[in-house]
Amino acid sequence: MNSAVLLAAALSARGMVLAAPPPAAAPSATPSASPTPAATPAAAEDAASPAPAAAEWTSELPRPTRRMNVDDAVQRIWYGAPQPRFRPTTAGEKEHLHALLTALTHALREDGTDATIDPAWEVLAHKAGFSLEAWTVDGESYWAMVEEEGDRRGAGAYILRVSPLEEKGPQILLEAPHVYYDLGTENLGASLFFSPPAGTRAPRALFTNTVHRYQNSPDPESRTPNNPADICHNADHLFTAATVDFAEAFASTATIELHGFADNDPEAKSGLKAGTSIVVSGGVAAGATPFSRRVADGLRGLDKGVRLFPEEAKALGATTNVQGMALRALKGALFVHVETSASMRHELNLDGEKRTAFGRALLDAAVKEGS
Ligand SMILES: [Zn+2]
Repeated sequence: MNSAVLLAAALSARGMVLAAPPPAAAPSATPSASPTPAATPAAAEDAASPAPAAAEWTSELPRPTRRMNVDDAVQRIWYGAPQPRFRPTTAGEKEHLHALLTALTHALREDGTDATIDPAWEVLAHKAGFSLEAWTVDGESYWAMVEEEGDRRGAGAYILRVSPLEEKGPQILLEAPHVYYDLGTENLGASLFFSPPAGTRAPRALFTNTVHRYQNSPDPESRTPNNPADICHNADHLFTAATVDFAEAFASTATIELHGFADNDPEAKSGLKAGTSIVVSGGVAAGATPFSRRVADGLRGLDKGVRLFPEEAKALGATTNVQGMALRALKGALFVHVETSASMRHELNLDGEKRTAFGRALLDAAVKEGS
């Protein structure tokens, strides 16, 4: 099934439409119009005569900064090209993205006001299979690690805010790991990341997926057991490694994952009380965490349907979420998983005031005392 059909199937199955439909996806989604780029003439030549000196990659200097608004960023991150076929992460990708994230977080620590890209970082990005780009979105500076054109494989996208590090409290990592399936989480995540509510701590990073979680299934709703493209259940994916890298780069972090469930989701129906609109979980079956409790309490003013897992909700608790598992093994790394119903996501994406209140609750809970 091609990506347009897949996306359309997911759209109708989830009973929801995107607030901002993906114009770039439609014209580019011809099923077999995206051959794998492995057989470029240069690659073929390298394979035929492996002269070591010819293989070194050098960046062109300097690359211009992309100037965008939030809608442009949504297009660039998620809808700029047809969905690629998923390819597993390699050890080299992890190693080089780790080195790159280490260099970038070090640079933020030294001087968070200079977004100039060091050529050495571009080389690291290339070795990890990424392009490192300087963006300004609505006037704010970011470093974006996006898959290289011609080497898209579902390895994710990783965007860092370039601003001086706050002296105290956690660095916030916002994650939208099921875009294309948890519909609307891209708009919600992008809005919260690029336009955080005034007076809140702006998230330091946005990490996200770049292929549909069930892309290897003939039916995107079938939830077949083996889904390596599902980054929340593939511990070996670069996304998990990058999440851990981020948490290890700072003494204190708070990771907030944005998810969505369908109003008619069978799991949700059996495990949730009627009227549930948001399920907040720390990913632990034994009980809420102080952080998940703060998030849920902060959201209660928004809607009567807010439930805390496992005390008030018996489903959608993210107990098998691999980012949660990895972060729980680290010191000073908070994690919360926030599931919003399709109708709640729709409201949040249409209603700016409600979205601001939602964002404020999440971000303020991250910087309050406690773990
Ligand atoms: Zn999800």
